[in-house]
Amino acid sequence: MIENFISPEKIVTEDVSALFSTDSSISVKVLRLDKIHPVVSGNKYFKLKYNIFEAKNRCSEKILSFGGAYSNHIRALAFTAMKEGVRAIAVIRGEELNPSNYSLKYAASCGMEFRFVTRQEYRLRNNHDFLNSLREKFGDFYLVPEGGSNSLAVKGCAEIIDYINEDFDYLAVSCGSGGTAAGLLEGLSGHKKLLIFPALKRFEFLSDDIRKLNYSYNKRIFSNYEFVPGYDFGGYAKKKQELTEFIEAFEKRSGIPLDFVYTGKLFYGISEEIKKGRFRPGDRIVIIHTGGYFYDEDESGNVRKL
Ligand SMILES: *Cc1c(COP(=O)(O)O)cnc(C)c1O
Repeated sequence: MIENFISPEKIVTEDVSALFSTDSSISVKVLRLDKIHPVVSGNKYFKLKYNIFEAKNRCSEKILSFGGAYSNHIRALAFTAMKEGVRAIAVIRGEELNPSNYSLKYAASCGMEFRFVTRQEYRLRNNHDFLNSLREKFGDFYLVPEGGSNSLAVKGCAEIIDYINEDFDYLAVSCGSGGTAAGLLEGLSGHKKLLIFPALKRFEFLSDDIRKLNYSYNKRIFSNYEFVPGYDFGGYAKKKQELTEFIEAFEKRSGIPLDFVYTGKLFYGISEEIKKGRFRPGDRIVIIHTGGYFYDEDESGNVRKL
């Protein structure tokens, strides 16, 4: 059981209003999903939990998924599969033929196997023939799509809402493949408003993906959300000095670690949107901290960001 080594009971809500608005008439709180686990961090636990359950239910001995060479999803899957006694295979995008970066090294240390493919091949990740060729090579497997986003991820991420113990007007979340946003919409069930901050420059396809994910889980679609683009800093995993400085200053003042791919851009975006006057006095925002930074924990539970 995934709950045997993951600690969702560590999730807390922290008030960071004072760090965002000068007159604190807008309430800003952070739901610290990053506290769950150093590797199966943040949203990844919620995305994986029912997928692992389903893989084991189907007696699949192998799970195969897709991701980039620094994917948080791939690391989380590697660790979870190791703990659950399931073999994990990752198809990795790009020409990195040598698993030498910290992320792939970590996944390999969990026993994960890799298949490195070119960017062109990677585009075939949902193609029937390509998946069959992988089955010929690795044997049958339970397939978890890129980023772990499928209907079971929606089911898991809908449960994030249960951890919010206070009233709010807006939820804010970072978005890669959209599974987490779809899950939050399912959990909100049409109430309140979800602000989605894309971590990618191109996000036009995301509303379609989110609609499909919601429909595939429960045949429901939602419209109580809005994309807040303009905070990708040049694209996925790109950064600029302004972002790095914001992250450093925020971490110093709040003690809350951020990553530059997802949460850094989200928190920066919220701060800018408050300055631009998007929110009204009295509005209550809950930011979902989806994890994403790689960390170590010492015996006394202190966290060291890597
Ligand atoms: C994976 C990840 C996301 C993106 O989640 P999606 O469900 O793919 O949109 C957001 N934040 C962090 C920290 C992540 O690791």
